[in-house]
Amino acid sequence: MVWNDIETASRERVRERQDDRLADVFSHVYENVPFYRERLDEAGLSPGDVDGVADLDRLPFTTKEDLRDTYPDGLFAVADDEMRCIHASSGTTGAPKIIGYTRSDLDLWREVMARSLTAAGVERGQTVQNAYGYGLFTGGLGVHHGCDEVGATVIPIGGGQTKRQLQLLSDLGSETLTCTPSYALYLAEAAEEAGVDLADLPLSTVIFGAEPCTEPMRAAIEERLDVTGVDIYGLSEVIGPGVAIECAEAQAGLHLWDDHFYPEVVDPGTGEVLEEGEEGELVLTTLTKEGLPVLRYRTGDMTSLRFDECDCGRTTARMDNVTGRADDLLIVRGVNLYPSEIEATILDIEGVEPQYRIDLHRAAELDEIEITVERASEYDGDVRALRERVQRELDAQLAFSPDAVRMVDPGGIERQETGKVKRVFDHREVE
Ligand SMILES: [Zn+2]
Repeated sequence: MVWNDIETASRERVRERQDDRLADVFSHVYENVPFYRERLDEAGLSPGDVDGVADLDRLPFTTKEDLRDTYPDGLFAVADDEMRCIHASSGTTGAPKIIGYTRSDLDLWREVMARSLTAAGVERGQTVQNAYGYGLFTGGLGVHHGCDEVGATVIPIGGGQTKRQLQLLSDLGSETLTCTPSYALYLAEAAEEAGVDLADLPLSTVIFGAEPCTEPMRAAIEERLDVTGVDIYGLSEVIGPGVAIECAEAQAGLHLWDDHFYPEVVDPGTGEVLEEGEEGELVLTTLTKEGLPVLRYRTGDMTSLRFDECDCGRTTARMDNVTGRADDLLIVRGVNLYPSEIEATILDIEGVEPQYRIDLHRAAELDEIEITVERASEYDGDVRALRERVQRELDAQLAFSPDAVRMVDPGGIERQETGKVKRVFDHREVE
């Protein structure tokens, strides 16, 4: 089932819509945002010069720094009294990014979240336990708006409170749970300890997002919670959750609602637009947002795009699961490394829990990388042999050899109940 006919429309029809909308959003920011007018003047562009998305690569990029430099509301494109809601995206460094929504932006958010939930299999009359954080973070309220639009019953429990999560899953029988992938695993462990068999509950789908998730991590979630795991993607600067989601049917890339968010993939170094299927940084242009439209926003997320029709019948652009952010890139002794590559390697090894941490140190002017993994409780073989196996696999799969691999007992890696999980600890600056 699809929420909106446009999801299965011909690419030509979608393109017409994109062209019209891009011309409109261009005029809107040119007239209402001095920052953009200045940028576009510098690039020698004015309304009328941009007929459609074919002209997009002539436009300058917008970056996270632009949002921070214009904190709090320098990129707002409407008068303050038009804003109905403000969210903020937490930055680990510098000022937060402030996101304003008009009435029409909130309707847009409801629409794209309704499409997303429908693609994940949520229907009117079903119950959704929403374990994303509520508040300034967009995760909780985004899901909440979408459930209301679809006609599903939402349980706004928010993050944490694991005992209560389990109790409500059991007593209210939600078919769908929304949370981060790391929290899904946390909940599975807590259920096991509490003697709750998740397979006995009506829970059939977990929609996970807000953290990158590798295929082995998805497999672990599906197995331990006895569910279909569906990856959702979004970012506050563009709308929040609801930019793209996998369909439960095919789980073959994330359907990106490209009649509202126009995607490009560019070389992160040169900014050059890449071809279909090539991996690079995702760049998004909002085609219909009023309050905070963004032109060619650099998301920092590494992915690729495809445009063939999905087995589910949807014809939207599809993006590959994001497994790395340009910001996550670790440079260790000059070698580029994404934590997700380490994750995928470790989680493919039997006898190891889907838990790990990466510690970076600097010793005698040299970077050192230490990887800690956790033995699975059901592993009853030789621990030293398992540790050597992990070391061997990392050597084989990655272009470097970790300085140390530590193996700890089950539960030996500290769990995190709320927020985005932290797995990389870079001690190099402070040492
Ligand atoms: Zn599909």
